[in-house]
Amino acid sequence: MTDHAIIAELAALLDATQLAAGDAALAFDRDHSDGTGQGVPIAAVFPTSTDQVAAVVRLAAKHGVPIVPQGTRSGLAGGANAVDGCLLLSLEGMTSILSIDVADQVVTTQAGVITFELVRAVAERGLFYPPDPGSWAISTIGGNIATNAGGMRCVKYGVTGDFVRELTVVLASGEIIRTGHRTVKGVAGLDLTSLIVGSEGTLGIVTEATLALLPTPGEPCGVLAAFPSPSQALAAADAIMATGRRPSILEYLDAGTIAAISSFSPSSRLPGGAGAALIIQSDEAGRAAADVEEYAAIALACGATTVDIAQDAAAVDAIMEARRMLHGAMRAVAGASLNEDVSVPRSRLAELLNGIAAIGQNAGVDIFSAGHIGDGNLHPIICFDPADAAAVATANDTYQHVIALAISLGGTASGEHGIGSLKRAHLDAELGPTVRQLQRSVKHAFDPAGLLNPGKKL
Ligand SMILES: Cc1cc2nc3c(=O)[nH]c(=O)nc-3n(C[C@H](O)[C@H](O)[C@H](O)COP(=O)(O)OP(=O)(O)OC[C@H]3O[C@@H](n4cnc5c(N)ncnc54)[C@H](O)[C@@H]3O)c2cc1C
Repeated sequence: MTDHAIIAELAALLDATQLAAGDAALAFDRDHSDGTGQGVPIAAVFPTSTDQVAAVVRLAAKHGVPIVPQGTRSGLAGGANAVDGCLLLSLEGMTSILSIDVADQVVTTQAGVITFELVRAVAERGLFYPPDPGSWAISTIGGNIATNAGGMRCVKYGVTGDFVRELTVVLASGEIIRTGHRTVKGVAGLDLTSLIVGSEGTLGIVTEATLALLPTPGEPCGVLAAFPSPSQALAAADAIMATGRRPSILEYLDAGTIAAISSFSPSSRLPGGAGAALIIQSDEAGRAAADVEEYAAIALACGATTVDIAQDAAAVDAIMEARRMLHGAMRAVAGASLNEDVSVPRSRLAELLNGIAAIGQNAGVDIFSAGHIGDGNLHPIICFDPADAAAVATANDTYQHVIALAISLGGTASGEHGIGSLKRAHLDAELGPTVRQLQRSVKHAFDPAGLLNPGKKL
């Protein structure tokens, strides 16, 4: 079957606006990662219903055409990148929130809804969806589920997967299944929902999801604390986590990331010249201001030079806006950046930061770090000029050392961004051969012909 004939069959299934073929498909061929490659797709398709997704998948299965599921391609691991001869199956057009159930505190949504739109829609009904990846203004709920995305509020509330109750999934055969339970509890059969969460499009295509919600928390208060050194900031983070309280956000920025964000966005009001900073928030109803006073006192006791307290939502948002610029700011430094996503047990963070400094020194490369220090998930970042082959090679090599260090500390190559095509080389070291083989067997059970997102995740 020629590409032309496949495109003709797709055109019979979809409206003209739902199909981009040939060169037009190249606009959708990769995600936001640097350091990953992409193949040439046959076409990109934009279905708007589960039935349309299933019809496209059946067509692809019939002709043995690989499928790369996509949200909005905000991923940082190459997971949504095209492979040669594939169909890019974008869920971007599935943008309906189907129901918000206040009594059961759940929302049922199509997969292409933008994360922040969902957060805003449920907030209007007095409910709270906590997962808040830095990309929430552009990422989709389906992409968040497929990567088990984290974010700033994980330290208190957990990751996307902690909120997934039920999924509608199109299998590689084109069959439509529903996994999980709308109920709080449910243990019938094996937990396929958890298997699909974080599977990066390799086991099935998520078209709809029912997500758990919480009551709206209190108005957040926050503090931005500046420290002379990373070790003082880390000591403060440890002391805060050792209190009986749990901050809703506990983020870390080092001197390099503060400088990059400040020059990218001069209005960001981050503490210029600081050796490191913490952003700490509390959203405990009736207690947030008192919590933040206590966190500020801890920061000062650990050597903070300034503590800037944000008493209302607008002031808190202004600080978080600066933090959310991290990726763009780091990319702007030299044109490209490798944003790692290692996670270690919190007690090993000091060893991780010291080890990263040593790796950078040996390689003669600046490695900047920022991230979710409250849950042990750090983003060490290497900036490089993508046109400079030697710089690209050094960045890639250095990146491998940082990941190996995290694994040696009992951590993981990826806390939230996913494996995609970028980090598969580390799976042997982290998982070992028996677990890897078991995982390949699971993949085979779901997708015997290996058509769903080949070359990714596993
Ligand atoms: C500025 C910036 C900040 C970020 N901050 C964070 C952060 O704080 N935390 C975090 O976890 N990530 C973060 N990310 C990474 C990224 O936004 C997340 O991985 C996000 O979940 C990807 O969603 P997406 O809709 O863009 O998915 P895509 O990038 O399109 O796809 C990601 C993966 O999921 C698969 N996929 C997508 N949709 C589906 C579906 N419906 N069914 C099956 N498979 C699917 C794809 O095949 C791919 O493997 C950030 C990215 C940027 C650019």
